[in-house]
Amino acid sequence: MTTYKRCDESVHKMALGLLEEFSDSYEPLITTRAQVDFVFAYASHDKQGFTKAPALTHHGIRAPGQTRVLPLKDRAMGRGDAEVTLDHDWWADAPDEQRLAVLDHELHHLVVDKTAAGEVKTDDLQRPLLKLRKHDTQVGWFKIIAARHGPASQERMQAASLMDEGGQYFFPGFTEEQQKLEYVKEPSSVKTATEKFVRGIKKSLGPGGSVTISVPHSSIKPVTITGGAAA
Ligand SMILES: [Zn+2]
Repeated sequence: MTTYKRCDESVHKMALGLLEEFSDSYEPLITTRAQVDFVFAYASHDKQGFTKAPALTHHGIRAPGQTRVLPLKDRAMGRGDAEVTLDHDWWADAPDEQRLAVLDHELHHLVVDKTAAGEVKTDDLQRPLLKLRKHDTQVGWFKIIAARHGPASQERMQAASLMDEGGQYFFPGFTEEQQKLEYVKEPSSVKTATEKFVRGIKKSLGPGGSVTISVPHSSIKPVTITGGAAA
C-alpha cells in the first residue's frame, strides 16, 4: 500500500523558485495566490526490501509526479487549492535538474479558471477555481501495433507528426544525429568494420598475446581479444 507524507520545505522553496523564474507563464497562479500542497508518496516494500508496486502510476505506468485540483470540502478543511504528489522513491535518487523539471511539469498542469470576460472564477470560499491543463502531447503506443500496421498505425502517424515539428521540442539535435543513425542502419558495414578491426589486432598480437578493451565508467563489459591466426 502506498503511504504519504507532507513534503518538506525544500520542495516548497523549489516550487516558489520556479514560479518566480517563469513568472510570465505562472502569473495567474501568483496573482490569485493559489495554494498548492505537496505530498510525497512512498511505495510499499516486501520483506526483502523490493518495491511491490510503484508509489505513483498513470494508466499503469510509473509516474514521478501527479497533480489534482482539490475539491471544496478539502479547501474548507484547510487544504490547498491543488495538490502535487511526488514519488519519493524517484525523488530521492533524482538530481536537482530532474526534480525541477518534474515539479515544473506538475505546476504547469494547473490553470486558473476564468470567465469569458477574463475574470477569475472563485468558489464559495472565494478561492480561485483551478482546472487541469492537458498535455500538449500524450503518447500511448504499442511496439507490436507499429510493427504490424506500419505507416497506417496511430503509433507511426503520431511519431511522424512529432517529427514534423522538426523534432525541435522533443528531439533536439536529431537532424545532426541522423548521419550517425544512417550508419547504424547498415549493420553489415558495421560488422565488416568490426571484423577487420579484430583481425588486425589478432594479427599484431601474435600467438599467446592478448589485450583487454574496456570502457571506463560504463556498463559495457570488457572484451578480451587473444592473438593468433585470423578467425
Ligand atoms: Zn503531466
